Amino acid sequence: MNQLHENIETVLGRIGDAARAAGRVPEEIILMGASKKQDPERIDEAVQAGLCLFGENRIQEAKQKIPLCSSRAQWEFIGHLQTNKVREAVAFFSCIQSVDSSRLAAELDQEADKQGKVLRVCVEINVGGEGAKHGLLPENAESEIELVARMRRLELVGLMTVPPFTVDPEGSRPYFAKLREMRDRLEIKLGLKLPVLSMGMSHDYVQAVAEGSTLVRVGTAIFGGRS
Ligand SMILES: *Cc1c(COP(=O)(O)O)cnc(C)c1O
Repeated sequence: MNQLHENIETVLGRIGDAARAAGRVPEEIILMGASKKQDPERIDEAVQAGLCLFGENRIQEAKQKIPLCSSRAQWEFIGHLQTNKVREAVAFFSCIQSVDSSRLAAELDQEADKQGKVLRVCVEINVGGEGAKHGLLPENAESEIELVARMRRLELVGLMTVPPFTVDPEGSRPYFAKLREMRDRLEIKLGLKLPVLSMGMSHDYVQAVAEGSTLVRVGTAIFGGRS
């Protein structure tokens, strides 16, 4: 087993332990490789090791890389999406996790219609209310999310967040709990299931799983540092 494969096994092991400790089933949690700045060879190595879901942050980088990677790899977008990149986003990704306005959602809806697709989306929430971060502020989110939920070519599947960084990963926990509670309220309010809670990165995925994450986005703990 090479280093990359070992890293994946380690992360999966810790996800499993955290899930069982929380009374959850490990299979409920999907491991996504956050593959920004990793080249196609590295991504294919991860596919060989059994990882099949990858998250990319930049359209420009992704559209060059994706055609060079194994066709077994599945791709979701996790970065900030500008409206002028919507056409490529719909063409290359099965899910946009980082929808941060109903305006962007409306553009994606229209483009998905043009391309004859139904696009899965998550809404990104800026749980810490940080000025420099993307995502809807929790206080504005509900009315915007209601609009997204009604779009015919979008399937709203859940929420995504990147919490404020704290040196102690336990500091992420209250933010993860906040996202879960928000999801629970929205499910009742909208009368639909929002099964995806995309939260947890290399630093805090164990805490995220303890707080109900169903999808962790792990980069450096799998691939090592980014150059
Ligand atoms: C880069 C990135 C990750 C992974 O970060 P690591 O700390 O390397 O695990 C997860 N989510 C998003 C949105 C990212 O941009």
